[in-house]
Amino acid sequence: MQAFIGLGSNLDRPAQRLTSALQAIARLPGLTLQHHSRLYASAPIGPQDQPDYVNAVAEVHSSLTPHALLHSLQALELAAGRQRLRHWGERTLDLDILLFGNQCIDTTDLQIPHPQMIQRAFVLHPLLEIAPHCHLPDGTTLGSFLSQVTEQALLPLAELDRDALIERENPHRTD
Ligand code: AMP
Repeated sequence: MQAFIGLGSNLDRPAQRLTSALQAIARLPGLTLQHHSRLYASAPIGPQDQPDYVNAVAEVHSSLTPHALLHSLQALELAAGRQRLRHWGERTLDLDILLFGNQCIDTTDLQIPHPQMIQRAFVLHPLLEIAPHCHLPDGTTLGSFLSQVTEQALLPLAELDRDALIERENPHRTD
């Protein structure tokens, strides 16, 4: 089944975190990483006294069930030393299942489509970058929601910026 995963981080070398998370997703049993977007920098939603986020979206082919995929992604979040300090607050790694084929799931621990995805520029833009015709299970194209998120600051990290960011996050250390 084709699925889309949203990635976000704003703590502890976020660009490097996302690059590593994409590699870890590619290695997960039962998943094949098919495409991933560029990295994007976005202003925080919720508390403003936290660093900007780095976000991306990955397209995978999953032979896992949606819940098994959720548990695998939660294991990656934990392995990244995920801290959850406050609601909508800073985090080392956040992995969300955005879409899973055309399935609609509404259980206590898993909602698909991800309930906030259509309100977030940092989800819509990277998702449409890799899947321009992507739509919700009811057929609504995701591009139709872009006009509602124009206020949200979002900047693709150019290769040069990204390299600079990763370099800044990994200063040459002598210790
Ligand atoms: P958050 O840290 O705000 O991303 O929320 C994490 C919680 O959201 C987890 O406990 C999940 O069980 C729940 N959740 C519900 N739907 C989803 C989804 N589509 N993808 C990832 N987590 C989800």
